[in-house]
Amino acid sequence: MIYYKTHEEIELIRESSLLVSKTLAEVAKIIRPGITTEALDKRAEEFIRDHGAVPAFKGYKGFRHTLCISTDHQVVHGIPSDRVIRDGEVVSVDCGVKMNGFFGDSAFTFPVGNVSADKLNLLKVTRESLERGVAKAVAGMRMGDISAAVQEHAEQHGYSCVRELVGHGIGRDLHEKPEVPNYGKRGSGMKLQEGLVIAIEPMINMGKSAVVQEDDGWTVSTRDGKASAHFEHTVAVQKGKVDVLTTFRFIEEVVSVTR
Ligand code: MG
Ligand code: MG
Repeated sequence: MIYYKTHEEIELIRESSLLVSKTLAEVAKIIRPGITTEALDKRAEEFIRDHGAVPAFKGYKGFRHTLCISTDHQVVHGIPSDRVIRDGEVVSVDCGVKMNGFFGDSAFTFPVGNVSADKLNLLKVTRESLERGVAKAVAGMRMGDISAAVQEHAEQHGYSCVRELVGHGIGRDLHEKPEVPNYGKRGSGMKLQEGLVIAIEPMINMGKSAVVQEDDGWTVSTRDGKASAHFEHTVAVQKGKVDVLTTFRFIEEVVSVTR
């Protein structure tokens, strides 16, 4: 069952999405070599609760934290801990909030310290892949148009798309139908209709696409141990325009000040 949202519901999801975006910017302010992932998690939870919202991941299927933090070869669903972020790592931070009954979801991969040129390129291409996919999220297009746009851009640069994990519908639930794969064929899949709200979230690997589940029961890592990146936006399908509900502009304001 796919829940199409009213204009009013989309505006509520936009509010939750803006709070997620601002929370990721709070993380951007403090992420650096030497900080623990649980320190980032604590700051994010405080910020979300200070704004009258609830961390969406906390309690989800037993997950005990606000953020998923996945470094280097970890793809997604990394668990915050006393592990210290090291110079040169790329760190995916995924955040969801629930406010006024609606969820927002976004992820950004941060380069921390002196990051190699090949990892920086992976981040650039993954973010571009997200943008290519988002540009297809317009009424009348098909799901496969989003998926193919993501896949083609990543593969053109010699990278691979994770297939086991996908984007999703979002609204009153964090994960709703339909699935939003990061690989597919143009012109295939369901037709996108006004009111569909989806999280598009390419997970792009520098090496091969295969992933493994780590023993902690959560963390997903690349099988070949090479780096992976992850960017995510919550997007509302509208007629004749792209409507991205989350934004990276707050992160960019922080990064331009600190660099
Ligand atoms: Mg997410
Ligand atoms: Mg998501």
